[in-house]
Amino acid sequence: MSDFQSGIREICQAHGNDPTRMMDIVQAVQVRYGCVGDEAIDLIAAAVSTPRVRVASVVSFYAFFSTRPRGKVVIRLCNDIVDRMQGSARSAQAFFDDLGITFGQTTPDGMISLESVPCIGLSDQAPAALINDVPVTHLTSDAAHDIVKELRVHMDPQKLVKSFGDGNNAHPLVRSVVRNNIRLAGPIIFSPGVRGEAIKKALGMSPAEVIRTIKTARLRGRGGAGFPTGMKWEFCRSADGEKKYVLCNADEGEPGTFKDRVVLTERADRVFAGMTIAGYAIGAAEGILYLRGEYAYLRAFLEDVLAARRREGLLGQDILGKKGFAFDIRIQMGAGAYVCGEETALISSCEGLRGDPKTRPPFPAQKGYLGCPTAVNNVETLCCVTKILEDGPAAFGGLGTSGSSGTKLLSISGDCMTPGIYEVELGITLAGVLKLAGAEDAIAVQVGGPSGQLVGPKDYGRKICFDDLATGGSIMTFGPGRDVLKIADCFMDFFIDESCGYCTPCRVGNVLLKERLDRIMHGQGEPSDLDYLQRLGLTVKTASRCGLGQTSANPILTSLANFRPQYEALVKADAQGLNPSFDVRAAVSEAEGIAGHASVTYPAGN
Ligand code: SF4
Repeated sequence: MSDFQSGIREICQAHGNDPTRMMDIVQAVQVRYGCVGDEAIDLIAAAVSTPRVRVASVVSFYAFFSTRPRGKVVIRLCNDIVDRMQGSARSAQAFFDDLGITFGQTTPDGMISLESVPCIGLSDQAPAALINDVPVTHLTSDAAHDIVKELRVHMDPQKLVKSFGDGNNAHPLVRSVVRNNIRLAGPIIFSPGVRGEAIKKALGMSPAEVIRTIKTARLRGRGGAGFPTGMKWEFCRSADGEKKYVLCNADEGEPGTFKDRVVLTERADRVFAGMTIAGYAIGAAEGILYLRGEYAYLRAFLEDVLAARRREGLLGQDILGKKGFAFDIRIQMGAGAYVCGEETALISSCEGLRGDPKTRPPFPAQKGYLGCPTAVNNVETLCCVTKILEDGPAAFGGLGTSGSSGTKLLSISGDCMTPGIYEVELGITLAGVLKLAGAEDAIAVQVGGPSGQLVGPKDYGRKICFDDLATGGSIMTFGPGRDVLKIADCFMDFFIDESCGYCTPCRVGNVLLKERLDRIMHGQGEPSDLDYLQRLGLTVKTASRCGLGQTSANPILTSLANFRPQYEALVKADAQGLNPSFDVRAAVSEAEGIAGHASVTYPAGN
């Protein structure tokens, strides 16, 4: 047996030859051998007794895995709209010049690869990149030149970190340049707490009482949809199933969202306590924190927090002396797939599969991870759970509005004075938010990331809450001079890249939407194109299978609704009834090549 064969076998054995741990196995092979090629796929399939196609489908699905060798160091430059606005193109050019390659390529010596990736959760310190797992922020072309020069010497991304960010970013297990940028710490998430207190209070109640407490606080899921948390737990508790699971969705991939990054850095204990309380309430013994691959630099730190909690009796058997209550948590790494933020896709990924969304019903609370009842909650939601148990439901329920209690974390980025994290009371107006961040002159605001709404000044009096302007947390501000069509176009690129391709409306419809938008932006649009965008956008919205497709047309639909004059200024009816998007020269070029001479067209020269 070759070293390679025994190495793969060893990795599979370390994960119990368990196909449901496919993400971890493939990740480990990728790290050790630089890719997961055909031979590795065969060996993994044999070791875990699963069809080859299942392994191959995982490798091909996730952006962080590759069948072809990548460089020892992979530079992933963020291409989201905020990074572009902050000049990421200049850093990209510096990398192109110094490395002699473009995106998707590896240097001829096989040492450095360059990739362009969607949001990496650092929009408040853009332009940013990940160099292997190491974040670099506030990139300039000079910084990019320096990075290449240094890497050529030591090939160690960690040595690029010259100073540490604030708070736990300076922890020995994090050692990151990232800054938290907590601009407004509210009374829930960033308030001080006593480790173990919330669990102690929960264990003094029955599981049903815990659920009732969460219901009394009127807590709704913070991911954006706002489903009542207590109700979800109740469904899960009463569902049939020998085993039940708690999944924490820490896969925030919505461009412009970075609040989970900060919560996990500064309030990991509160998240894990929330998961433990959820486990007690629904009757689960296992929890999984699904951590997005872009936050791999936090993993060792989070594992350390979990280890400390085990030592202190806050995880494991008979938690805090409560006989019979056992609960533990493992971390499942994601690998660069936005769709895994959708709860059923996240479950697929945890099961060692492609991140394909599942058909609902059944809902995860009835049939989720490995077919068992599963409560999937967001990082921020679980923090709220802990605080509600610490202080009682009245304090939480007394904040916010009648339909949206408590506070909300906002990740604010773009054209504003102070990008960062704001914990605001739900019900605050958008104008109030813009004032806090120093963005009063915004001509447009993207609320809820690309899947949310692009709104203009007439909507600034609306409230941030589940019943008005709902958001999972992303707020991107656009100042005077920004082009809303370019913003929508950038977001459509994002959805086209991130569609899992399962259903036609999402896979094809978004491409058609973008093509028509591009045509309008190039001055070749007609008035009827606006109706086409509206009709096709609504079709994609209603006919797509999962939340990604159902919201993917929003950049076009909401910009059309709120910024129609910008579209109308670019489309015009042709006086002669001709179709302005028809390129006669391109249409006849092949025939001209065959005939060997140019065609005569009217008007001359066209
Ligand atoms: Fe996949 Fe898009 Fe269909 Fe969702 S809507 S299942 S992401 S193709």
